[in-house]
Amino acid sequence: MTSYSVVVCGKCGGYLLAKTDQQTRTCPYCGSKVLLEKAKKVAAARNAYEASELLRKFKEKAAAKNGKVKLQKRF
Ligand SMILES: [Zn+2]
Repeated sequence: MTSYSVVVCGKCGGYLLAKTDQQTRTCPYCGSKVLLEKAKKVAAARNAYEASELLRKFKEKAAAKNGKVKLQKRF
Protein backbone atom coordinates (compact mmCIF):
# COMPACT_ATOMS: atom_id res chain seq x y z
CA MET A 1 0.00 0.00 0.00
CA THR A 2 1.28 3.40 -0.90
CA SER A 3 1.36 6.06 1.73
CA TYR A 4 2.16 9.72 1.33
CA SER A 5 4.05 12.38 3.17
CA VAL A 6 4.05 16.13 3.09
CA VAL A 7 7.66 17.28 2.88
CA VAL A 8 9.31 20.67 2.90
CA CYS A 9 11.59 21.74 0.08
CA GLY A 10 15.01 22.54 1.52
CA LYS A 11 15.57 25.28 -1.02
CA CYS A 12 12.41 27.33 -1.08
CA GLY A 13 10.51 26.00 1.91
CA GLY A 14 7.49 25.05 -0.19
CA TYR A 15 5.31 22.13 0.79
CA LEU A 16 5.08 19.21 -1.55
CA LEU A 17 3.48 15.83 -1.66
CA ALA A 18 5.53 12.67 -1.99
CA LYS A 19 4.82 9.00 -2.10
CA THR A 20 6.82 7.24 0.56
CA ASP A 21 8.24 4.78 -1.97
CA GLN A 22 9.72 7.60 -4.04
CA GLN A 23 13.28 8.72 -3.47
CA THR A 24 13.29 12.10 -5.10
CA ARG A 25 10.72 14.66 -6.05
CA THR A 26 11.06 17.78 -8.11
CA CYS A 27 9.83 20.81 -6.25
CA PRO A 28 6.92 22.36 -8.15
CA TYR A 29 7.86 25.82 -6.89
CA CYS A 30 11.58 26.17 -7.48
CA GLY A 31 12.30 23.14 -9.66
CA SER A 32 15.04 21.74 -7.46
CA LYS A 33 15.38 18.05 -6.72
CA VAL A 34 14.26 17.14 -3.24
CA LEU A 35 15.80 14.08 -1.62
CA LEU A 36 12.90 12.66 0.33
CA GLU A 37 15.15 10.79 2.70
CA LYS A 38 16.70 14.06 3.83
CA ALA A 39 13.75 16.36 3.45
CA LYS A 40 11.82 17.50 6.46
CA LYS A 41 8.56 15.59 6.74
CA VAL A 42 5.78 17.52 8.35
CA ALA A 43 2.93 15.05 7.96
CA ALA A 44 2.06 11.58 6.83
CA ALA A 45 -1.09 10.36 5.15
CA ARG A 46 -2.49 6.98 4.31
CA ASN A 47 -4.07 7.85 1.00
CA ALA A 48 -4.01 10.43 -1.75
CA TYR A 49 -7.13 12.17 -0.52
CA GLU A 50 -5.82 12.60 3.00
CA ALA A 51 -2.49 13.75 1.60
CA SER A 52 -3.99 16.45 -0.58
CA GLU A 53 -6.13 17.69 2.29
CA LEU A 54 -3.06 17.92 4.51
CA LEU A 55 -1.10 19.70 1.82
CA ARG A 56 -3.87 22.22 1.38
CA LYS A 57 -3.89 22.97 5.10
CA PHE A 58 -0.15 23.44 5.22
CA LYS A 59 -0.25 25.74 2.23
CA GLU A 60 -3.00 27.81 3.79
CA LYS A 61 -1.03 28.09 7.01
CA ALA A 62 2.10 29.11 5.16
CA ALA A 63 0.23 31.66 3.09
CA ALA A 64 -1.34 33.16 6.19
CA LYS A 65 2.07 33.44 7.81
CA ASN A 66 3.48 35.19 4.79
CA GLY A 67 0.63 37.62 4.75
CA LYS A 68 -0.53 36.47 1.34
CA VAL A 69 -3.92 35.58 2.68
CA LYS A 70 -5.74 38.24 4.58
CA LEU A 71 -7.92 36.68 7.21
CA GLN A 72 -9.77 39.86 7.84
CA LYS A 73 -10.64 42.41 5.25
CA ARG A 74 -10.36 46.00 6.28
CA PHE A 75 -12.14 48.75 4.49
ZN1 LIG B 1 11.42 24.36 -3.76
